Amino acid sequence: MRVNEIFYSLQGEGFLAGTPSVFVRLAGCPLRCKWCDTKYAWDKKAGTHYSIAKIVRTVQRWPCKFVVITGGEPMINLHLPELVQKLKAIDKHITIETAGIVFIPDLACDLMSISPKLSNSTPAEPELVAVQENSRLDIAVLRNLIDNYKYQLKFVADSQADLPEIQQTTEKIGNVDTDKVMLMPQAGTRDELLAKSPMVADMCKSAGFAFGQRLQVLLWDNERGT
Ligand code: SF4
Repeated sequence: MRVNEIFYSLQGEGFLAGTPSVFVRLAGCPLRCKWCDTKYAWDKKAGTHYSIAKIVRTVQRWPCKFVVITGGEPMINLHLPELVQKLKAIDKHITIETAGIVFIPDLACDLMSISPKLSNSTPAEPELVAVQENSRLDIAVLRNLIDNYKYQLKFVADSQADLPEIQQTTEKIGNVDTDKVMLMPQAGTRDELLAKSPMVADMCKSAGFAFGQRLQVLLWDNERGT
């Protein structure tokens, strides 16, 4: 598998925020979100080739139960089911961070952490807009993911104008447990995070969604490997 990086930190986002976790960042993502903070992982070849056994050995360097498989977009990797199975075999708790654009059945995944991409992620470059628009949101895939896995839905909110789109998206998916939905401020820096947090907190209170922290930005200003 093409691995961009493996490191130990705290889970920064979602309902497990603050939990010490080993992150396995796989390479490759077909989307081109304009505010993506892992652009270095877009390229499928961005990283080093690891066998699954070597990934598992590397993860075991840290005495930590929680493993987060992220990217890029890990669900496009054909070897993901085997990696998850091998990590489960050593009793890891596995979160998969995904934009929710691909469904894979029967993964031994403890938490499907889904971050559907809204129109606020549309890239500025005209040549990338069509790529993004055609693939960023697949309602049938999202529905399959929430029907088949323990999940959380994390929406990135950039302005108050995003709230109707977020609500329409959850309605279109259907069967969404509101308690599992959170809004996170769109923020590449600590200053941006602190500036947008009160606005997103108000959006959460008005819609009944949870406020999603981004500890990697708050604590380390989004430095790589955190
Ligand atoms: S889906 Fe995630 S990794 Fe891919 S471009 Fe968007 S933010 Fe970046």
